[in-house]
Amino acid sequence: ARARAAYVARNPRSAEIHAEAAAVMPGGNTRSVLFYDPFPLAIARGEGAFIWDADGHRYLDLLGEFTAGLYGHSNPAVRAAIDSALDGGINLGGHNLLEPKLARLVCDRFPAMDSVRFTNSGTEANLMAIALAKAATGRGTILVFHGAYHGGVLSFGGGGSPVNVPHHFIVAPYNDTEGTLALIARHGPDLAAVVVEPMLGAGGCIPARPDFLHALRDATADAGALLIFDEVMTSRTSAGGRQALLGLTPDLTTLGKYIGGGMSFGAFGGRAALMAMFDPRRPDALPHAGTFNNNVLTMAAGIAGLTEVFTPEIAERHRERGEAVRGQLNALCRQQGVAMQFTGLGSLMNAHFTAAPIEDPAGAACDNRLRDLFFFDMAEAGFYLARRGLAALMLPLTDAELDGFRNAVARFIEARRPFL
Ligand code: PLP
Repeated sequence: ARARAAYVARNPRSAEIHAEAAAVMPGGNTRSVLFYDPFPLAIARGEGAFIWDADGHRYLDLLGEFTAGLYGHSNPAVRAAIDSALDGGINLGGHNLLEPKLARLVCDRFPAMDSVRFTNSGTEANLMAIALAKAATGRGTILVFHGAYHGGVLSFGGGGSPVNVPHHFIVAPYNDTEGTLALIARHGPDLAAVVVEPMLGAGGCIPARPDFLHALRDATADAGALLIFDEVMTSRTSAGGRQALLGLTPDLTTLGKYIGGGMSFGAFGGRAALMAMFDPRRPDALPHAGTFNNNVLTMAAGIAGLTEVFTPEIAERHRERGEAVRGQLNALCRQQGVAMQFTGLGSLMNAHFTAAPIEDPAGAACDNRLRDLFFFDMAEAGFYLARRGLAALMLPLTDAELDGFRNAVARFIEARRPFL
C-alpha cells in the first residue's frame, strides 16, 4: 500500500490523463493488459532504450512493447525506411513493391515457411492459421495449452476468456508430455491442430522442454493434425525463431511483434501445399482479407529491421546477451537466498517469486502483491517492466544500463527481503 501511495504522489499528470481517458474509454483503456491500479503511467515519448512519462520521469524501457519494440524507439534505419515510404503515399489500394521483399526475407529465415501471408496482428495470424488447419484437415478440434496466449480472443490463462472465438478447444497441460499425448490420442480423429507457444510468453516466459515439443511434432504427424508454432514472441530467440534452435519443423508458423519493424504486424505461413489454399486463382480458395495486411509502412519498416538491424549475427548476439543477463539475475537471487527467479529464453524474461523450478503456470503461482511490489519499486527506481514482470530486452540497451537494472534488483531484494 505504501509503494502504491508513493506512486500516486509521484505521478499526478498520469492520474489526470487517465481520468481524461476514462471519460471516453472504459477504464481509460484500449489494451486491457496495460491497466494496473490505481492508474497506469501515461508514456509521453521514447528515444532509444528510454521512455519518459507525462510527469517527466525517465525510465529504462525494459518492457520493449511486449517484444515488438526490439529495435528501440525511433531506430534510425527503421525510421529512414518509414520516412521514405511516406514519400510515396501510404494507402495504395493494390499490391505494392515491398510486400514480396518482406515475404522473401521471412521465408528465408523460417525454412518451415515456404510461403506466407501478412496480417495486422499476431492474433489475426493465429486465427487464420487455425482456419487453415480446419479447412485442410476437415476437422474441428483445436488443442491448446493452459496458460497460453495467442491473442485477445485466443487466451487460455485462468480458465479462458469470455471473448474467445467459439472453436472447439481442448486445453492440455503445458510441458506435460504424457497428459498431452493422452488427449491427442483421445481426440485424434477430430483434431485439426495443436497450437503451441515454444515458450509461454504472456503465461510468464516459461520455456517448453525440447522433448515436449518434439513429442508434439511426432504425435500430431501420427494423428494427421497440424502442428502450429506460435512464434509471435519467440521468433526473436534466433534469426529463425525457436524452431531453428530446436531443429523442429512445424506445419504452420505464426509471427508478429518486431518482424514488422515495430509497426502493426502479423504473419502466418507454412508448407506451400497448405498455404496454396489461399491462392485466389483457385475456385475453392479460402478468403483472407485485411485492408492493412500489406500496408507499406509495415512492409518498409520490417524490411529495414531484418536487413539492416536484426541480422542473423545480431540475433545470435542478442540471444547470448539475454542468456547472460538472466543468468546473472538468477545467480543474484540464489546468492541472496530469496524465493525469486527470472525464467525465459534469450532476451525474454519474467520475474517470478518462487525458488522452485517453473514448468507451467501453476508452478509460477505466488502472492500477486509481490509482483505489484516489484513493479512499483522498479518504476520508482527508473526501470519500466510489464506489471506481470516481463522484460523483453531491446537492442539499444547498453551493458551499463543492464548492470544498473541488476543493481536495482539487488536493492529491491535488500529492501524487501522479509517478503521474499
Ligand atoms: N501470440 C503470442 C505468443 C503473443 O505473445 C501475442 C501477443 O502478445 C499474440 C499472439 C498476439 O499478438 P497481437 O497482440 O499482435 O495480436
